[in-house]
Amino acid sequence: MDTIFTTERVRPLLARVRDFVETDLIPLEVGFSHQNLGALIPILDQKRDAVKAAGLWGLALSKADGGHGLTLCEFGQISEVLAYAPFFGHYVFGCQAPDIGNTELLHNFASPELKERYLKPLMAGEIRSCFSMTEPEFAGSNPTRMATTAVRDGDEYVINGRKWFTSSADGAAFAVVMAVTNPDAAPHQRASMIIVPTDTPGFVIERNIPVFGEAGEGWFSHSEVTYTDCRVPVSNIIVGEGMGFKLAQERLGPGRVHHCMRWIGNAEKALDLLCKRAASREIEDGVMLGEKQFIQDFIAESRAEIDASRLYVLNTAHMIDTVGVGNVRDAVSGIKFYVANAFLRVLDRAIQVHGALGVTDDVVLSAMYRHERGARIWDGADEVHKQNLAASILKKYGLDIKKKAKELRQFRQMMAGEVVLETAGKG
Ligand SMILES: Cc1cc2nc3c(=O)[nH]c(=O)nc-3n(C[C@H](O)[C@H](O)[C@H](O)COP(=O)(O)OP(=O)(O)OC[C@H]3O[C@@H](n4cnc5c(N)ncnc54)[C@H](O)[C@@H]3O)c2cc1C
Repeated sequence: MDTIFTTERVRPLLARVRDFVETDLIPLEVGFSHQNLGALIPILDQKRDAVKAAGLWGLALSKADGGHGLTLCEFGQISEVLAYAPFFGHYVFGCQAPDIGNTELLHNFASPELKERYLKPLMAGEIRSCFSMTEPEFAGSNPTRMATTAVRDGDEYVINGRKWFTSSADGAAFAVVMAVTNPDAAPHQRASMIIVPTDTPGFVIERNIPVFGEAGEGWFSHSEVTYTDCRVPVSNIIVGEGMGFKLAQERLGPGRVHHCMRWIGNAEKALDLLCKRAASREIEDGVMLGEKQFIQDFIAESRAEIDASRLYVLNTAHMIDTVGVGNVRDAVSGIKFYVANAFLRVLDRAIQVHGALGVTDDVVLSAMYRHERGARIWDGADEVHKQNLAASILKKYGLDIKKKAKELRQFRQMMAGEVVLETAGKG
């Protein structure tokens, strides 16, 4: 849908992408489940070749890297259209998560050597990658707490740890791993991002984790991975030691825009299916489902929520393009929880209107739900984003929640120390 953000440069591209998605991709989703993705991959790879031949590959890339030099705001609009083919639109056009996030990360921060070795084939779609930060034993919402370590030994880092929900690790050529390199530093300066090729001895995919009953495979998997004495050259570090969290922030800002625009496309698809069903399902003699006010409420609420979400996200993307992600953190938090929830409400309504059919794999809605319910959890759970946004707003009113919480923590630590000293003294 055209908005005030739709430029003359992106409008013809949007039309071409929409045409390809409708003609070549949507017919492939009949009977799709993550478990039969394997059989589909050769077909999708042929489609990738067709996209490359049409000059539509890597639309998120800069001109120097063979892309179209679109802004984040322009690419966001493309991303929405790709999401009308929810599961493989982005893959076929070479801009699927987590590769798109790793591409941006390496493009902006990797050394020339790492770019040559990892970024080039990633951009060309010759290899895939994954991002390995979350650990099963530690709350991912507080990523300063992690057990994976990278200890320097001569010219190498030796990496040990266990990660899970490393999405798309299955078949990836390398992982960007978050590991503690400086355990004695301040919490946000302890970890670093290091590239670990997946053929490194000690890199083991323990399992692809079943999500709502489907383990998935290939880039549709979420793996549990162990790193046991994995040795990589020190030059595989991105930027330098202790930079992991700063880089994660840089990576996640645009990444959240990508997710949100994808959800808006998914939501449009769900609403389209909802409306088709409402207009065609006879509920009483001569009365269609869409004549019921409950269903009209579903439709009107969904339309408004999607349209509001789109403008919120595109405006945020526009601000990232113009003033940089560091100045737009509140908006990035806002879109992440707002759009994830709006999308899941639309999807749930669409399932409801389809009745029993809605929970089967005969329509794409159930697979979308399995794949996307995590939207309110990954890249920061709702509660964390809401808390950050509220804290930032209240700070402008003179109430610094984070500072007070830090002071309280320090006070408790001090009191705990005193108690230990007292006890020791008495002993
Ligand atoms: C489908 C999927 C794909 C993923 N892909 C990746 C990936 O590719 N790479 C990667 O590294 N990780 C990935 N993750 C992991 C994801 O980033 C984490 O799940 C997320 O950061 C939350 O961490 P956690 O699961 O440990 O939950 P926890 O941190 O244990 O939190 C559990 C719940 O507690 C609540 N909560 C947390 N903090 C607060 C708070 N401050 N106040 C109030 N409530 C709170 C929230 O409801 C939250 O959902 C993925 C997760 C999913 C579901």
